[in-house]
Amino acid sequence: MKINLGPAGSPVASTFEGIYKVKELGLQSMEVQFSHGIKMSIELAKKCGAEAKKLGIELSLHAPYFLNLASEEKKKQEESKQRILDSAERGHYLGAREIVFHPAYFGKGDKEKVFQTTKNHILDMMETIKKKGWNVALSPEITGKHSALGSLDETIRLVKETGCSFNLDFAHLYARNYGKINYKEILDEIQPLKSKHIQCHFSNISYTSKGERNHEILDHHPPFEPLAKEILERKLNITIISESPVTWKDSLKMKGIFEKLGYRFE
Ligand SMILES: [Zn+2]
Repeated sequence: MKINLGPAGSPVASTFEGIYKVKELGLQSMEVQFSHGIKMSIELAKKCGAEAKKLGIELSLHAPYFLNLASEEKKKQEESKQRILDSAERGHYLGAREIVFHPAYFGKGDKEKVFQTTKNHILDMMETIKKKGWNVALSPEITGKHSALGSLDETIRLVKETGCSFNLDFAHLYARNYGKINYKEILDEIQPLKSKHIQCHFSNISYTSKGERNHEILDHHPPFEPLAKEILERKLNITIISESPVTWKDSLKMKGIFEKLGYRFE
């Protein structure tokens, strides 16, 4: 069992400094955010990757939000793929295992067609990643809005039909299900698919009839402690990235909860 906790995005202005900060805070992981575009050079990715390795900080990577693999415009599909592949290349040099992204939106499209288009692009990108020798896994995320591809079932189907990885997001599932979440059921379903390591996001969240509204600080819902208990009982290898508005502060709160339950971080 190994539990890694850390923030979505650097706790300080730069990614490089952020790796130190995460170490200093007593956390284990950080998700590098390319949310609003890819500004990191390959050189910087190499430098950050070497530093993270030296300090024993695990990295993952979130590709830009602005992409849609099933856009009605072919050109936009190709641009989306390129953003994910540019992220994957940097991820490789960062030593980031998982390349997280929100795969597609349904728009006015037929749901099955959107699924097939997304699936084919993922297969195609996996082929490129293999050819290039990049040591990363594509991780479509469980998304928070019904307008986006990424329910638990859709994501599991993508994993089964492509062999890609995925990023579990408990807050998004909670928002999709209007405030209902059953950690046992979710973990029962995904554990067989992710027996070695589970990558996930956790934060508190508010929602509307369309799904997620805002990520909240960790004193709202869904509750974290029952999930922590379930993780410890199952002895999971898991990385939990905090997407709360106070990212690393909530990672420390999660750490406190695990420690209260008897888990010791190295
Ligand atoms: Zn995300």
